[in-house]
Amino acid sequence: MDIKAAETQLRDMLAEEVKRLEAIEQRLRGAHSASFGEQALEREGDEVDERMEETVIREIEMIKAALERIEAGNYEVCSSCGGEISEARLEALPYTTVCIDCAK
Ligand SMILES: [Zn+2]
Repeated sequence: MDIKAAETQLRDMLAEEVKRLEAIEQRLRGAHSASFGEQALEREGDEVDERMEETVIREIEMIKAALERIEAGNYEVCSSCGGEISEARLEALPYTTVCIDCAK
C-alpha cells in the first residue's frame, strides 16, 4: 500500500484534531456570563465539551501512535497477532493497530 499517502492523511487528520482540541479548550476556558440561566446552559455545554475533549485527545494519541508505527516500519502489522492489516482496513481506519480478525 501507499504508506506515504497514509502518512499524509494521518498528518492532515492530526492537524484537524489539534485544531478541534484547541477550539474546545478555548470554549472550556472561556469567560462565563453572569446571568444564572446562561450559566446553567454553559455548564451543560461544558459537559459536552469535556466529553468531546476526551474523544479528541484519544484520537490524537491514536493518530500519533499510527505515525510512530509508520516510522518504525510496522504500520501494516497487526499489534495483536503480528499478521498483516489489509489495505482496505487501513484506508477506512488509518489509525487502527489490529487486523480485522483481531478487531472482532
Ligand atoms: Zn491480528
